Amino acid sequence: MPTENVVEVRGLVKSYGPLRAVDGIDLTVRRGEVFSFLGPNGAGKTTTVEILEGLREPTEGSARVLGLDPRADSARLIRRTGVIPQDFRFFEKITPREAIAFYAGLFGHPKDPDVLLRQVGLEEKANDRFENLSGGQKQKLGLALALVNDPEVIFLDEPTTGLDPQARRAIWEVIRTLRARGTTVFLTTHYLEEAQVLSDRVAIIQHGRIIALGTPEEIIHRYGRPEVLQLEAPPALATLLRKSLALPVRVEGDQVEVEISRKEDVLTVLTAVQASGVPWQRVTTTRDTLEDVFIRLVGKMDEAGARAEAGTAPEGRDP
Ligand code: ATP
Repeated sequence: MPTENVVEVRGLVKSYGPLRAVDGIDLTVRRGEVFSFLGPNGAGKTTTVEILEGLREPTEGSARVLGLDPRADSARLIRRTGVIPQDFRFFEKITPREAIAFYAGLFGHPKDPDVLLRQVGLEEKANDRFENLSGGQKQKLGLALALVNDPEVIFLDEPTTGLDPQARRAIWEVIRTLRARGTTVFLTTHYLEEAQVLSDRVAIIQHGRIIALGTPEEIIHRYGRPEVLQLEAPPALATLLRKSLALPVRVEGDQVEVEISRKEDVLTVLTAVQASGVPWQRVTTTRDTLEDVFIRLVGKMDEAGARAEAGTAPEGRDP
């Protein structure tokens, strides 16, 4: 019976001397999900992923992949998982076609290299040496190698770092294809846009702790600022709207901004604008992205940490 929870982490801690690089995290990744692990440098992402890959031993807590212990059951897991490490490297003189044939042989998994090369968009470089591939092409080869054994779950640690936008999108396409086939993808990335468009769910980790977990929409909704409707208009419009609307209205430069919380509010605001008779130009709506929310959440936690270290309590709270 396939396990529905492909990854299960409970109370996971990894200490390096006094540093708790992973400080008690719990998470579950379900079969077929694209799950992104986000966090600033040094937050504990790679440490966690490498525990899941069986490369590091946890100090406390448990980690299961496909119901197996990544260290004790590593031989079985290797056959069912795929991995691209951060900054993937390979033998300089080998070509992508040879590399795939070599890996397929290692796994005892007959695989037509051309099918994989096509899947990752590397057909044209099939016979070029690894040393002559661009950064993006190397990453694509890494992805092809990780797919040699038709893995049920694939761990991608920053697979698009340093790639140009086109190469990045090519990797996104491969991830989408994998997802459509039911492969579970565990991704770490510093590109929040990437996480937002690709992921079913994301976890934000900071100082080894998960500070937010959910779908990108849930996280934006929960931690983001309210959506704003902006009109290029004189401040007189704001004065009139404040009288006719029960919504927060402010003036920012040559823009009048109205906070909206429901989609019906858009119509209410535009009707009030029309009724005011004040001339206006260009209307836009803006809402926080996952990146906006990430920056504020991580910044807020850093401030809270600095206050705690300085021994000062946050405003409005008991010390
Ligand atoms: P990045 O986004 O920069 O890749 P990360 O979130 O993947 O960061 P980790 O590589 O997991 O972060 O590192 C978490 C913390 O653990 C960092 O402070 C790092 O310096 C420390 N660390 C990682 N590996 C070791 C090690 N082998 N020995 C000591 N400290 C380590």
